[in-house]
Amino acid sequence: MTVQDTSTTASKPAHRLKTGAEFKASLDDGRNIWIGKRKLDKVTDEPALGAGVDLLAEMFDDQFKPEFEDATTYIDPQSGEIVSRAWQVPTTIEELADRRKMIEYTSLKTAGTFGRPPDLSPAIVAGLMAYQDVFKQKKSMIDGCNPDFAENIEAYMDFGRNTNLTASESLAGPQTDRSNPKAAEMAFLRVTKAQADGIYVSGAKTVGSIAAQANDIFFTNLGGLTTTPPEACVWGAVPINADGITMISREMVSQPGANKFDHPVSSMGEEADQFIVFDNVFVPKERIFNLGDPDGMSWYGRATVFAHWHVLTRMAVKSELFVGAGQMVLDVLGTGKIPAVQQMLGELIQYAQTLRAFVIAAEAKATQLASGVVTPDVSMLTAGRLYSIEHYPRIIHILQEMCGQGLVMRFGKDAFENPEIGHYLNDLLPGHGVSAMQKELLMNFIWDMTSGSLAGRVALFENVNSSPAPRLRARLFDEVSREAFVDQVKTIAGMDW
Ligand SMILES: Cc1cc2nc3c(=O)[nH]c(=O)nc-3n(C[C@H](O)[C@H](O)[C@H](O)COP(=O)(O)OP(=O)(O)OC[C@H]3O[C@@H](n4cnc5c(N)ncnc54)[C@H](O)[C@@H]3O)c2cc1C
Repeated sequence: MTVQDTSTTASKPAHRLKTGAEFKASLDDGRNIWIGKRKLDKVTDEPALGAGVDLLAEMFDDQFKPEFEDATTYIDPQSGEIVSRAWQVPTTIEELADRRKMIEYTSLKTAGTFGRPPDLSPAIVAGLMAYQDVFKQKKSMIDGCNPDFAENIEAYMDFGRNTNLTASESLAGPQTDRSNPKAAEMAFLRVTKAQADGIYVSGAKTVGSIAAQANDIFFTNLGGLTTTPPEACVWGAVPINADGITMISREMVSQPGANKFDHPVSSMGEEADQFIVFDNVFVPKERIFNLGDPDGMSWYGRATVFAHWHVLTRMAVKSELFVGAGQMVLDVLGTGKIPAVQQMLGELIQYAQTLRAFVIAAEAKATQLASGVVTPDVSMLTAGRLYSIEHYPRIIHILQEMCGQGLVMRFGKDAFENPEIGHYLNDLLPGHGVSAMQKELLMNFIWDMTSGSLAGRVALFENVNSSPAPRLRARLFDEVSREAFVDQVKTIAGMDW
């Protein structure tokens, strides 16, 4: 991608945006990816991955459309160029709200089924920018390589912004025997060699959502051992086609190539999760953000603040889709006057309003850090994320229940258009004020969102992708100060201890 000078053709500034075609071309880089017996020549050779890439490419093209330009782009104050909003680092509450527009855009574009759209990993880099002053103080604790972490964080932000980069982020380690520290240790990504211009790392990362469809991988280790050995205390980023990286894809769960009527959501493909093996992968010095420092690792929770805000906002957007779909079910089935059904929709609305309220609260209580970066309130985010995953299965269940047989008795476009049987379906299955086909399209949408294999993977993703519920409760225990509440109790009860 080259900087586009549009000054002669229009009054718009130059931009640093990729088109969809440029994004697709950037993935044709010899990356080493396997599905079962097959090694793919190109990531787009696998239909489900290819459909997902097409959807991502649409997002890149949308950057150039007037109706999406505000949500997806902004003017970089330093360069004066138009850049992707994914790489915006908020320094005011207003900029935080502006950055949220991008999350809402990518969430709607994927119906919330991509948890790692192109604006997710930039949110982690923004989180590192927020604590740049901390990383400025840190030094490499592995002999032979001495990166400047703070400088590298800023350089990576510039690199991502200037190249409209898509990165995956992989933190979790391979699932092994969790009772055996040695097994956990084996699974860590670790430094095998350090030299002046960089390090070599070996090990594996999982589950790398969207890695196969991205340009870079942003990695670190997470959890597993009480004390992480220095050689496993590493944060860095490398191109996904770097020598020594092998991706092994899980089985596909979407329905690429299916008729859009039959599968309105799962026909759009998926972000596939990858098992990513690192075999002596070289990480240049400029792409290292922590090296050998266990304390540096402990900043992970704080640095993911924007990523967790992304997760919660996407859940809020998705919950609103559930409300919209639920309302339409009542409309087309004519069940909206039944009090019990109204209660069901009421519960979907409660879920959506509560998630929205957590997003608003996290932004309203945002703080400006020493770095100047404005970050959403972590305790509101954690409580909101916990609420979102605890109630998700019930919300899915309610939406399914509202649909009754409609969710199962779906026949597909071919059946409706078949002259032998289509007239039966058309005549016998209309809804309230809508044709049988219109009613089925709604049910097909809800099936893809709640019940098909894509929905199954998404439900698993929501539950654990950025920590399962027990860990979120532990975070609340650690992060939310209770002193003021204790004092209130003491005051009311007259306790002087
Ligand atoms: C569809 C999907 C996509 C994902 N995408 C990504 C991604 O893009 N990047 C990424 O880094 N990760 C990703 N993950 C991985 C996710 O971060 C992990 O699944 C999560 O951190 C839990 O770790 P684990 O699966 O290794 O669970 P394990 O450590 O194997 O534990 C299994 C279960 O035991 C319980 N448990 C274990 N330890 C504790 C503890 N200390 N406290 C409380 N409960 C505990 C939890 O219920 C946990 O789910 C994805 C996961 C899924 C399912």
